[in-house]
Amino acid sequence: MRIISPGGIELEINEKGYVVDREKFDWFYLNKSDADVEWECDVKHLLIEEGRVRGVEVDKDGNSKEVRADTVVLACGLNSHLPDEASLSPIRYPSDIAWAMEAVVEGENIGEGEYFEYFVGSVAPGWKATFSPLGGDFASAGVYVRRVGNPSDFFSRHMERLRKAKGNMKIVEVFEGGDPIAAMPWKLVGDGVVVCGGAGAQSGIMYGMRAGVIVAESIAQGDLSLYQKRWERELMREYKLGRKALNMLMEMEDEDIDRFARALSDFDFSSLRGNPYLKAFRVFMHILKKDPALILRLI
Ligand SMILES: Cc1cc2nc3c(=O)[nH]c(=O)nc-3n(C[C@H](O)[C@H](O)[C@H](O)COP(=O)(O)OP(=O)(O)OC[C@H]3O[C@@H](n4cnc5c(N)ncnc54)[C@H](O)[C@@H]3O)c2cc1C
Repeated sequence: MRIISPGGIELEINEKGYVVDREKFDWFYLNKSDADVEWECDVKHLLIEEGRVRGVEVDKDGNSKEVRADTVVLACGLNSHLPDEASLSPIRYPSDIAWAMEAVVEGENIGEGEYFEYFVGSVAPGWKATFSPLGGDFASAGVYVRRVGNPSDFFSRHMERLRKAKGNMKIVEVFEGGDPIAAMPWKLVGDGVVVCGGAGAQSGIMYGMRAGVIVAESIAQGDLSLYQKRWERELMREYKLGRKALNMLMEMEDEDIDRFARALSDFDFSSLRGNPYLKAFRVFMHILKKDPALILRLI
């Protein structure tokens, strides 16, 4: 990937990246499952009896029915009423959800670049603007913004800059949604119910999948409360560090982000090892050596 500062300083991180076809991905796991799966049901309500969630009321092809279960896993993404029905507050800082507008775009050879590109700074306050080659004439382009309302103006400006830099491209399909990357998971477990994935601010597909595994293990051991404890022990520090870094980025002026990028332009990101704190510490020490005045400005 390439991280690009507002002034155009590029930091290259030579890690492999992948684009996931979400529909095929979902079907892949659905086909692998040997469980009794009913697909494309609309869950209308939770069945709650004496304060405990006992199942769900679903609608399929206009027919309503009850499905009873010892544990209900709410992996319903953002914007669902279901966690509220379970009296859970799975997201700690809902006002910090990044609102995203992303499009598949088409233009001559625009999908042939080698790097995913992430633009930071006032181009997308609070998170990032992206350009990801998809091969051939296709790419995806998006903006993710926090605490500035609707992303559409940022998206239009981002597209304008991309067209200037990479040539004409037309929008094929637009997606809008929320990414709770800095919104922090909170209360994920209730009586007979857990929240998992985007619905619990466990943003990122890999993180949502890991949360799913921890849920399954906790159910197998007959104690749902293990899910919250194990998830926090394994990942909470990473999320806290991520939120701190994104909040710092949001408060930085474009010129400070440029200074930050300049100080890191000779840093070998592939040499980073160890836990996220150790990595952050090494980056911090490098900037301290290169531009101590910047560190003083930022802390
Ligand atoms: C524009 C955008 C780009 C992103 N890019 C990346 C990326 O590059 N890499 C990455 O790792 N993450 C990315 N994310 C985050 C990633 O999409 C989420 O972390 C992930 O999709 C969460 O998966 P999930 O299954 O928990 O929720 P979702 O993907 O939101 O899926 C929830 C599903 O539940 C269904 N549902 C909701 N309510 C009901 C109901 N009542 N009854 C039945 N079904 C219901 C929904 O229809 C949906 O299919 C991006 C997010 C956005 C918005």
